[in-house]
Amino acid sequence: MGPSDILRRIPKTEKILALLSQDPTLNQLSSARLLEAVRLVLANLRENIIGQKTNTVPLIEDILAESRRTALDLMNLKLKPVINATGIILHTNLGRAPLALKAAEEVQKAALFYSTLEYDPIKGIRNDRLIPVEELLIGLTGAEAAMAVNNNAAALFLLMVTLAQGRKVVISRGELVEIGGAFRLSDIIEAGGATIAEVGSTNRTRLADYQKALGSENAAAILKVHASNFKKTGYTGETGVEELAPLARSYGLPLIVDAGSGTFLDLAPLGLSEETPVQKILTLGADAVCFSGDKLLGAAQAGLIAGKKDIICALKKHPLARTVRPDKLTLAALEATLKLAQDPAEAKKQIPTWRMLYSTEKELQKAAVKLKRTLGTYPGLNLAVIRTESRTGGGSAPEQPLNSWAVAIESPNLEISRLEERLRQQNPPLVARIWRDRLILDVRTVFPAQYAQIKNILSLAWTELTSSPASSAEG
Ligand SMILES: *Cc1c(COP(=O)(O)O)cnc(C)c1O
Repeated sequence: MGPSDILRRIPKTEKILALLSQDPTLNQLSSARLLEAVRLVLANLRENIIGQKTNTVPLIEDILAESRRTALDLMNLKLKPVINATGIILHTNLGRAPLALKAAEEVQKAALFYSTLEYDPIKGIRNDRLIPVEELLIGLTGAEAAMAVNNNAAALFLLMVTLAQGRKVVISRGELVEIGGAFRLSDIIEAGGATIAEVGSTNRTRLADYQKALGSENAAAILKVHASNFKKTGYTGETGVEELAPLARSYGLPLIVDAGSGTFLDLAPLGLSEETPVQKILTLGADAVCFSGDKLLGAAQAGLIAGKKDIICALKKHPLARTVRPDKLTLAALEATLKLAQDPAEAKKQIPTWRMLYSTEKELQKAAVKLKRTLGTYPGLNLAVIRTESRTGGGSAPEQPLNSWAVAIESPNLEISRLEERLRQQNPPLVARIWRDRLILDVRTVFPAQYAQIKNILSLAWTELTSSPASSAEG
């Protein structure tokens, strides 16, 4: 049977539409919306048949279910909440850090009303919007000065443009990293008008390598970069900030550190020894440290820079500073989060990324038991509480797992990837990973308030899967 014969067996649009209009859960949708949904589903099906991705026409129930889902989807905004059961705390595709409630409330206020963004109401004069965040950053890091921009890539760019345009930046060959989404550090440095003076080798860079480059190059700065999303093992070695700082000073050059995630906490007790606290990097002698606001720090997307006064002053004076200026919503989230960070014990309760990072195995096991109990039972599915491993993600502490607990779902009669697919197609989508033919719901990244939602999502997905024969989707 050729594609044209299969195409002829697709049900008529009018027929699907008539059946769909009888669905009481869709009665808020206009007939135009329903028609749009049916057309999209059928067009997609035709495309798959012509492209020979499938050689069967699904059952009419399946086409109806798909049309229903598409119609409801057309109502929804594309950017919407997701339940993250992957255990990856800083999942870049899922929006990195969720905000603390306090921070989200401040964002809402700044959004709904006029604010003191650039106004001092006591003196009745204009004010710099960055001051509150800068003062908090100075307090938290012990730096002389600080600044906030739109993201860490922008921070690095502004540092390069201001300090190294037309000159060379000395950097280890082991630190020319690609962060993800094809974002390469070297591109940012070059876009900033600097050229890269590579030193050392991929796996080892010694102090003498830097010395040689500084002696012969028209260098403007030394840049040290957090290895971010990869780990060097085996015969490796790098030169630390404590060794580079005196060298940079002897040449009168700034030592800049891109810390990547950036944290104010000592994470070594968690086994995350790759992450050095920002204040420590400064104490070791860095002249400027830049890091993200929405990675481990748990605030909004931002690039934060802490360091020497003369450097920060130069950054602020550069005309391009205006192009990377954070907006009031970001500043509201940042100020509230940094304020919480002043009290680490409280921050570990209130900032979600901190709470997730510091959840103990015992707490996570209890949570997994509770989630399993909330989910209940389903004929054809086996649920079990198991140990698992979470990741920090977001280029922090790669390859360093955090022991965690999960609810594992197994189905003897169904390809587990079909359940995984149905769960992420619900609203809100439930994103989970598959491990050894089991679906793993890692509780570390799930908010307790989402347990009941997960139960509904699982029930819906399972009903959909079991009410239509498993064989109907594919031929
Ligand atoms: C994540 C990361 C960046 C980019 O930060 P954004 O805030 O996403 O722009 C830059 N450098 C390093 C080392 C990183 O890990």
